[in-house]
Order: sequence, then C-alpha cells, then structure tokens
Amino acid sequence: MLAANAAAPKGTLPISPASEFIMNIKKNDNVKMLSGKDRGKTGKVLFAFPDEDKVVVEGLNKVARHQRPKKQGQKGQIVRKERAINVSGVMLLCKSCGKPTRIGQKVAGDKKIRVCKKCGADN
Ligand SMILES: [Zn+2]
Repeated sequence: MLAANAAAPKGTLPISPASEFIMNIKKNDNVKMLSGKDRGKTGKVLFAFPDEDKVVVEGLNKVARHQRPKKQGQKGQIVRKERAINVSGVMLLCKSCGKPTRIGQKVAGDKKIRVCKKCGADN
C-alpha cells in the first residue's frame, strides 16, 4: 500500500479504474434484502467477500443442503444454511435513521468514512 501511494501522482487515488466499484458493506452491518424470496427482510452480515462482491446474511437466503451420513448407522440430514448473495441485492440499514440507504463516502484525514445518503450520519 505504501509503495502504491508513493508511485501515484499527487492528488490521485491509487485505485485502478477497473475497481471503480468498492463494496461498502462490511461484517456485522445490518442490511435489507431487496431481491429473492427473502425480499424485504433484514439481517446481520455474517461474512463479507469483497473480492466477489458477496455477503452472507444471517437467516436470509437459506438453502437446504442434503447431507449424506458420514458414518454407518448415522442418518443423512438436511442442513439449512445461508448462501452468499451479491451485494447489489442488499441495502445497508443506516445505524442512525434505520432506513435502507445508499452510502456516500467522506474523507476525514487519511480515513474514509461511510455516510448515510439520507440523513448524513456516519456509519
Ligand atoms: Zn441515515
């Protein structure tokens, strides 16, 4: 990171145009589901995969996995598990106003802060 900063001309960000989309949903965020059978439901982000733009939300987008018995005498079972969903299918819930919102970015010093587009509060 330091080397990239040093190489970039002053005033530009060391981000390539290809990575224009930056995932701004993180672990432990509360999100609202916008698509699929769980549309309208909310849940907490358990895992975030920024490389794939995917998140796993607690209790949402569950799929049944049919598990074979591992040992003899053991029964096979159906395990319901959350499946990762694309971040475009969820919206962040603002911690301040509680509404699903788009996220803006504010730069404070060398840090980027996420701000709610609706109420302007830091998130
Ligand atoms: Zn807000």
